[in-house]
Amino acid sequence: MGRSSKDKRDIYYRNAKEEGWRARSAYKLLQLDETFHFFEGVHNAVDLCAAPGSWSQVLSSKLEASQDGKIISVDLQSMAHIPGVMQLQGDITKETTANKVIELMDGKKAELVVCDGAPDVTGLHDMDEYIQAQLVLAALNITTHILKEGGTFVAKVFRGKDIDILCKQLELYFDKLCLAKPRSSRTSSLEAFVVCNGFHMPPNCRPSLFNPLLNPDSCLQWDSLTEEERVVLPYVSCGDLSGFDSDCSYPLNMQGHAPYQYREPVQPPINPPYEHAVKLKRANMLQQP
Ligand code: SAM
Repeated sequence: MGRSSKDKRDIYYRNAKEEGWRARSAYKLLQLDETFHFFEGVHNAVDLCAAPGSWSQVLSSKLEASQDGKIISVDLQSMAHIPGVMQLQGDITKETTANKVIELMDGKKAELVVCDGAPDVTGLHDMDEYIQAQLVLAALNITTHILKEGGTFVAKVFRGKDIDILCKQLELYFDKLCLAKPRSSRTSSLEAFVVCNGFHMPPNCRPSLFNPLLNPDSCLQWDSLTEEERVVLPYVSCGDLSGFDSDCSYPLNMQGHAPYQYREPVQPPINPPYEHAVKLKRANMLQQP
C-alpha cells in the first residue's frame, strides 16, 4: 500500500511513461470510456486543448479501426505529430478555429468532442475557477459548431461553487449529463469530467461565437433561474476502483512487477523555456550556487 503524497510523479505518471502515453491524463479518458463507452460508433472526433496529446493518442488508438474517420486536435501550443491525427494550432474561442476544424473534416461534423482544457493558473483560487468555467463554456460554444446532432461532449470541469450554473447551461444542449471522477484523477482535486450525450441545439438558438454564453442576451436568462431550476447531476466514480490510488505514491520496485527502469519522456516539450539552461548544464557551464 502506498502512502498519501503530493508527489506528481505518481503511479499513473510512471505508467504513462512506460506505456507510451504523453501524459497521465490518458488514463482519465480511458477510464471514463470504461464506464460510458463513448468511443462506440465514432468516426470523426475532435480533441480541444489537446497538447501534449495523450487524449489524441487515446482517440487514435481507439478509433483506428475506422478508415474513413478523422481525428482533429486543437491547441494554442504546437504538438509533436501523432499518427492518424490532424493538428490545428489555434484558439478554441475563435470562430475561425471552428471553421478550420470543419474544413479539415471535409465539411462533416464530429460524433465526439472532448476537451481537457486548462488555462494558465494565476494562483488566485476564485479567479482560476472562473477562468476554467469560461474555458469549458468556450469549448461548448465551439462544440455547437462542430458536433453532430446526437453527438457526445466530454469536458473537464471543476466542482466549484458555480458548477450547477455550468451544468444548467450544458443541459440546454444535451439530453443526458453525468459528472464523473476517474480513478486516475486525484481525489484531493476538484477536477471532474462532464459526459454529455445527445447533442441538440435549443430552439431559436443558432451557433455563434460572437456572444459569450453567459451574456444575458444569449439563449439563457440567468437572472430568471430559480433555486429549483438548478441541476443536480448524477456523480459516479469510474475506472478500476481496486486499482492504483492516484493520491498515493508507490515504491519504484513493486512486488509482482518487473524491476523499475528509467525511460526518457515519450514526447519531450518543444522549445521549453529552460532549454538554454539545460544546454549550459550539459556543457558544465552553469555555476553552482
Ligand atoms: N488533454 C491533454 C493531454 O492529454 O495531453 C492535456 C491538456 S492540458 C491539461 C491543457 C491544454 O489546454 C494546454 O495545452 C493549453 O495550451 C490548452 N488551452 C488552454 N486554453 C486554450 C485555448 N483558448 N485554445 C486552445 N487550447 C487552449
